[in-house]
Amino acid sequence: MKRLATFVIGLALVGFMGKAALAADTLAEVKKKGVLVVGVKDSLQPFGYVDEKSREIVGYDVDIARAIAKKLGAKLELKPVTSASRMPQLMEGNIDIIAATMTKNPERAKQIGFSHTYFATGQKFIARKGAVRSVNDLAGKKIGTAKGSTSEQNVKKAIPTSTVLSFDDYPQAFLALQQGKVAAVTTDEAILAGILAKAPNRAQFEIPNVQISEEPYGLGMRKDDARFIAFVDKTLLEMEKSGEAKKIFDKWFGPGTAFHMTRTFKITAGK
Ligand code: GLU
Repeated sequence: MKRLATFVIGLALVGFMGKAALAADTLAEVKKKGVLVVGVKDSLQPFGYVDEKSREIVGYDVDIARAIAKKLGAKLELKPVTSASRMPQLMEGNIDIIAATMTKNPERAKQIGFSHTYFATGQKFIARKGAVRSVNDLAGKKIGTAKGSTSEQNVKKAIPTSTVLSFDDYPQAFLALQQGKVAAVTTDEAILAGILAKAPNRAQFEIPNVQISEEPYGLGMRKDDARFIAFVDKTLLEMEKSGEAKKIFDKWFGPGTAFHMTRTFKITAGK
């Protein structure tokens, strides 16, 4: 009996230590390996896209991630992700952090951890000029968006009679709009503005003033990775204080840029 009790306690201990050993400590690991692996979008101006000259992925999300890598004293390694693949990639350990136009919300926060909000936008539509004045104009219509996005969920709720066609990413959805296969494309306004800015036939389209949600972006990290999440949050607040966050925002969204946003954003603890 005594031996059995010792065995049971021993088993429990092994289980406990095993769990503790599995808890992520990305902060220590990244410092040790000297590389921060970041999941980014690679076709969404101005967040993450391939620069025509350098052939490298650049953008607002990339610059935010670069500042964090620098603070860690680590090299920045970028891995393209889609809306649907980013959380599995993180949870499987293929990337250390997500910086990929990702909305933080309570549902996702059940599976992963989020930083403070580092960008804020809201969900709108691109449609042919004059075609959409309210969500009612899209009732019963086909609407394009990306798989695994909040855009997909929100539009199904906002316009239940619509048929939602989900693509890997938004440029494919915009192609479907150009080909007349969908009546609109829906996602965050800042992404739609980026898609329109680079479309040669943009004069035929518009982003009507019809918003169906608020979309605050957070950097995604593994849920049990408390030290790393705290480090990233601290870095974001330091970047806000030093003016570096504003500098990055202005580089991509300030007056005089192709993606000028009238809505500015400030990183604030807890938001
Ligand atoms: N921000 C929204 C989301 O996280 C839409 C953009 C995206 O799919 O990345 O789902």
